[in-house]
Amino acid sequence: MSSENKNPKFKELSVSKSTLKAIKSMGYKYMTDIQSEVLPKALDGYDIVATAKTGSGKTLSFLIPVVELVKKLMDKATSGTLCIVVSPTRELAIQTYTVLQDLISFHYGMTSALVIGGESRKGQSILLAKDVHIVVATPGRLFDHMRTKEFNYKQVCCLVLDEADKIFQYGFEEDLKQIINRLPKNRQTMLFSATHSETTEALIKSAMKDDFHTINTNEDNDRATVEGLKQGYVICETEYRLFWLHKLLKKTQNQKVMVFFSSCKSVIFHHEFLFKYCNMPVLCIHGKMNQTDRTSVMTSFYSADKMALFCTDLAARGLDIPAVDWIVQFDPPSDTNEYIHRVGRTARGLGAEGCAVLLLRPEEKEFVDYLNEAKIFLDKYETWDKYNNLQPKLDAAMEDPQFHKMAVEAFEGYIRAFEVKKLKHVFNLLKMDLDIVAKSFGLKGKPDVDIRVGFSKKHRPRKRKAAMLVSKTIPEKISTA
Ligand code: ADP
Ligand code: MG
Repeated sequence: MSSENKNPKFKELSVSKSTLKAIKSMGYKYMTDIQSEVLPKALDGYDIVATAKTGSGKTLSFLIPVVELVKKLMDKATSGTLCIVVSPTRELAIQTYTVLQDLISFHYGMTSALVIGGESRKGQSILLAKDVHIVVATPGRLFDHMRTKEFNYKQVCCLVLDEADKIFQYGFEEDLKQIINRLPKNRQTMLFSATHSETTEALIKSAMKDDFHTINTNEDNDRATVEGLKQGYVICETEYRLFWLHKLLKKTQNQKVMVFFSSCKSVIFHHEFLFKYCNMPVLCIHGKMNQTDRTSVMTSFYSADKMALFCTDLAARGLDIPAVDWIVQFDPPSDTNEYIHRVGRTARGLGAEGCAVLLLRPEEKEFVDYLNEAKIFLDKYETWDKYNNLQPKLDAAMEDPQFHKMAVEAFEGYIRAFEVKKLKHVFNLLKMDLDIVAKSFGLKGKPDVDIRVGFSKKHRPRKRKAAMLVSKTIPEKISTA
């Protein structure tokens, strides 16, 4: 791509030889836009608030300064952890940790730990007690360890919040506030995100020094998504949605595809049907899986050349998976920001390319106008005239009560997801024909479940919070460098 030659080279930065050697062996020569803007200031020790499109190279923008800072300090007689990177999801933490391992591979003696939920607390404690230099963590587990005496965080001089807005969105606000309060005040703080939100603005004020730098490479551009991305939408009648998905998977069977759903239950149902009853090569990842399974699915998908992965937004947040050809938004995103994050899973890095398709019901067509307003321009793709009729297969599968239950729960999950969508007149639950929606899940008609359309969320039990509490008690396993 032409921008390659315009951008400055990493070797123009004042960083250590070991870091430059690592960057070279990772295959990078020129900085991306966000890297060339953030790195000089971050290396000078300034606090940073950076917003840049997904796939623009934010990870190295904060890891290089972190590694350089540790290099300067590690030889002095300090004890305790020096830098902490916080990620909203376990998968993103694992990925960031992997990039960190590459980056410190020539820095002998530099240590790091991955501290995430779903793995052994005890093992992590032992590791933290050894004063590892850099910790990459999810907020809940990090805060757990901060309440133990094994973890010495009193020397922390740099805190990075990656995908900061999501840390809030996923209910970690309280944990994060506590973490920030307990850390030494005299530290460098860097906040990275693909999209801006009001909650991050508030966080900025509380966590940053007054002379922080705001860097936003999104503003320089007249489009909100990367250039190598071909993106379009398809209008599909509700009852054919599943058939459409089946056909799409057939057409893209030699490619790497990620399909986004709005609920775990919907991922489970569609995966079960297409994998088990239609023999399609499909993996799935969602929040109801244990960490071992989640990690093994991600490992398989990372290394596959052709494969489909069904996922929820939570599971896929911020992940950098090599060469994803297609991003399919089977369920619509809740807003334009979520759209940007989802399509950000393809066309990543300098000059990369990828395709994205958004499936909309005829009633949702107006969403395209909202995307236009946010500088996201979509082509209209025609849908196929002929689908395979999967109804006989669906009917046969429904004989199994387990599968029928999955369909009912998926239907429920789909409807619930509409309640939290912001653009109520585009994603209008009250105008939805629930019998037809049920058909798209292979059901004969609206199942007998308590959907209570129109009731506000506060009148229902807080399922999500409860699920989080449960997941915090899962036994865990150690992860080290
Ligand atoms: P973001 O966090 O902004 O979504 P990542 O840091 O995950 O993006 O990087 C996206 C992709 O770009 C990764 O595959 C990474 O290896 C690649 N990348 C990062 N920096 C560079 C660079 N300077 N040159 C080429 N590719 C890069
Ligand atoms: Mg990132």
